[in-house]
Amino acid sequence: MDFEDTPEEAAYRAEVRSLLEEHAAELVHMDSGEEGTAGSRTEELALRRTQRVLAEAGLVGVAWDTAHGGRGGTLAQQSIVHQELARARVPALINHIGLGMCAPTVIAHGSQQQRDRYLPRLLRAEDVWCQLFSEPASGSDLAALRTTAVREGDGWVVNGQKVWTTLAHVADFGILLTRTDPARPKHAGLTMFVVDMHAPGVEVRPLKQMGGQSGFNEVFFTDVHIPDSERLGEPGEGWRVALTTLLNERVAVGGGGTDLGSSVESLAQLAAERMPALGHDRQVLARQALGRAVVAALANRYTGYRRYTAISQGGLPGPEASAGKLAGTASAKLIADLGVRLLGDDALYMGTPDGDRWQRTMAGLPGLAIAGGTDEVLRNIVGERVLGLPPEPREDKHRPFSEAAATRQTGAMA
Ligand SMILES: Cc1cc2nc3c(=O)[nH]c(=O)nc-3n(C[C@H](O)[C@H](O)[C@H](O)COP(=O)(O)OP(=O)(O)OC[C@H]3O[C@@H](n4cnc5c(N)ncnc54)[C@H](O)[C@@H]3O)c2cc1C
Repeated sequence: MDFEDTPEEAAYRAEVRSLLEEHAAELVHMDSGEEGTAGSRTEELALRRTQRVLAEAGLVGVAWDTAHGGRGGTLAQQSIVHQELARARVPALINHIGLGMCAPTVIAHGSQQQRDRYLPRLLRAEDVWCQLFSEPASGSDLAALRTTAVREGDGWVVNGQKVWTTLAHVADFGILLTRTDPARPKHAGLTMFVVDMHAPGVEVRPLKQMGGQSGFNEVFFTDVHIPDSERLGEPGEGWRVALTTLLNERVAVGGGGTDLGSSVESLAQLAAERMPALGHDRQVLARQALGRAVVAALANRYTGYRRYTAISQGGLPGPEASAGKLAGTASAKLIADLGVRLLGDDALYMGTPDGDRWQRTMAGLPGLAIAGGTDEVLRNIVGERVLGLPPEPREDKHRPFSEAAATRQTGAMA
């Protein structure tokens, strides 16, 4: 892929820019102080409206197949839309989890009826979606999850707890990974469902983050009934279905979906304002740090483009997506670190004349290095699947989950 826009891409970019200007009054902008976590009902409604307006303007699901309600465009066009939304300071779409992770999973593993029912509403944020995977004792080791789904009549009964579920407090549906056969090894006894978040027995409790937001939640399931028609993939095939979600997540979180260009622009602007007040030596250091941040963000963008090319030729993103997420997190750290340093003592307060963008970005960095696979786990994946290094020993991989789980609880060695 070329680094610069082709004439067609430049024309598309101009069209997107003019659509965003035309609809500016109907969109949420980050300058208005709203951050995109749907922390209040007012913010949630504004974010839902923003996505609906963008969808009606043809700017959501740009690279999706037209059969699924998309525009049938290219991944390059989708990337241009992401860049222009960031440039116009429109926050992440309220349904970014639905669009980036849940919908690709429904498209790949759902029935035609599920696709017809869910995808058009998801595109317009009439339904918001969440991803119900992590549990208190299974995050990186996701396949060790304990939420159960037990067959009963024409459906399944779910009991258990999820945690860190982004947007569950506003979600209408979620993709839910459950254990349906504890007698099989941990990866083999899982099944995926679509769950109605308004069903009886689903309880959502928001968690407070250190940046002040409440973007994610605990979710409890008590005797929740899910019809069998809401299963995604075959019983016992949940791990294969989850891999579709996770690989798409790494692309969405790691540079394909997130473009750091607008952050670098804001950083350069902040540097221009703040650097004259610094002494000579600190100016030199700040200039060098700015250079490093710009180079890292550009490398991240262009590597993201390479991934797009690979995806458009081969379908699913591969394990290189893990390297992309690692690099995206490292670039975001360089940018936020310099932003906070340039603010100096002002960084200790919220609501400075520069707003609190850099403080909040800094507070969100640990989360970025964890969500969608921690840095350490992604390095393991790159080591094993890209570099071909020997895998970590995994003593519980082939034993029945019920046996391995009992060992883990008592701390006994296999
Ligand atoms: C902002 C944010 C949003 C999130 N949104 C969602 C969501 O919407 N849905 C959802 O299901 N989950 C979500 N998560 C949860 C996320 O997927 C988990 O936090 C993540 O998988 C890590 O799991 P854990 O927190 O249980 O940490 P653990 O897995 O317990 O890890 C603890 C530490 O041990 C390290 N570690 C673990 N295993 C290994 C290993 N094999 N080798 C080396 N080091 C290792 C980790 O790197 C980490 O430093 C979100 C998390 C964050 C921060």
